[in-house]
Amino acid sequence: MRIRSKLFYERALKSIPGGVNSPVRACKAVKSDPIFFERGEGPYLIDVDGNRYIDYVCSWGPLILGHSHPEVIANVYFAIKKGTSFGAPTWQEVELAELIKSCIPSIEKIRLVNSGTEATMSAIRLARAYTKRKKIVKFEGCYHGHVDSLLVKAGSGLITFGIPSSPGIPEELTIHTLNLPFNDFSAIEKIFKEYGKEIAAIIVEPVPGNMGVVLPKDGFLEFLREITIKYEALLIFDEVITGFRIGLSGAQGKYGIIPDLTCLGKIIGGGLPVGAYGGKEEIMNFIAPEGPVYQAGTLSGNPVAVSAGLATLKELIKPGTYEKLESLSKRLEEGIKEVLKKLKLSYQLNRVASMFTLFFTEKEVIDFQSVLSSDTQKFAIFWQKMLDKGIYIPPSQFEAWFISLAHEEEEIDKTIVAIYDVLKEMH
Ligand SMILES: *Cc1c(COP(=O)(O)O)cnc(C)c1O
Repeated sequence: MRIRSKLFYERALKSIPGGVNSPVRACKAVKSDPIFFERGEGPYLIDVDGNRYIDYVCSWGPLILGHSHPEVIANVYFAIKKGTSFGAPTWQEVELAELIKSCIPSIEKIRLVNSGTEATMSAIRLARAYTKRKKIVKFEGCYHGHVDSLLVKAGSGLITFGIPSSPGIPEELTIHTLNLPFNDFSAIEKIFKEYGKEIAAIIVEPVPGNMGVVLPKDGFLEFLREITIKYEALLIFDEVITGFRIGLSGAQGKYGIIPDLTCLGKIIGGGLPVGAYGGKEEIMNFIAPEGPVYQAGTLSGNPVAVSAGLATLKELIKPGTYEKLESLSKRLEEGIKEVLKKLKLSYQLNRVASMFTLFFTEKEVIDFQSVLSSDTQKFAIFWQKMLDKGIYIPPSQFEAWFISLAHEEEEIDKTIVAIYDVLKEMH
């Protein structure tokens, strides 16, 4: 029973649009009311009615250590006792910048902001200023925050100029955004042939997580690197999810690509609002006050937020963390695959490191179009039944599930059994 959640939701609807402060929380895609949570403990979430769930949302990615990690809480407490914000530099910012640089060598200089959206917005501005060009290439199904110029949908045909995907965005703001299918080499080749000299940058989630997890084809990221070098455009890796998720050096470390700029967020804030963008020194020196490109923030580098990020990264650099995440994730993947085999279902599971998606489709999922072949009705039923078994997965088919260091084999095995029971009931 979720009586108190329901009551809070009714109240919320009267004061907050849709009752939520970020749309996907409303659980509309799974035909449910939102759940209001009271607290988090390791791999568990506890709602306001006292129900406990094994959590695979992990606040949409940041909580790679799980909820209420003692080191994070202690560090935040230590910082907050000294004040919440100074609007002036603090030592924590320097430490976080140095720590990130030491893990991601392509980042020679880094600027902290307050969200992933701010990071991508600023990186795009910087890329345009540096190249003195206007056009940006992005990929269908990749999400880069709610930046006006990046909220575009594809029109018809392979090569498409961005059409705003939300009212309130004039076409003039998306006309320079070129929206292409992910993993499509020839579409990219074609667009660079036509507009190469006008393209400031490609921005890409190297492993997209925001249409559900989709893996780059062999050579795809290398291809993006080569073509941007050839046409003197910048390559921006949006690693807001993959940064410190796929490994200490993110997707760029795993795939061996050196982007010009990298956007970070989520994990580097340890559950508090932090984003960042960084890259080659020569490019980053264009940012004010060193250079002419304006970008600022009242609370940027906030000592409390940064202390949560620092504590998180310091845990992650300890030996064995990514090995543990990999072994748990592999256990869950293999368990789910065995369940599917037993039930003679051929749903697709895409995984990299501790992020994955189970797609309710039999088609191989390699881009936005194949993602859309998923049966979202079935997913909605699956989500509800999993919830009733005490397992909280993202309330949309088109999202990544995350495993944290707080998960143990016990939670993983319970999840596999629940998936078996639920899918068996459904089919
Ligand atoms: C979450 C996300 C963003 C936006 O970050 P916010 O902190 O929500 O603004 C940008 N890019 C990617 C890849 C993301 O997953």
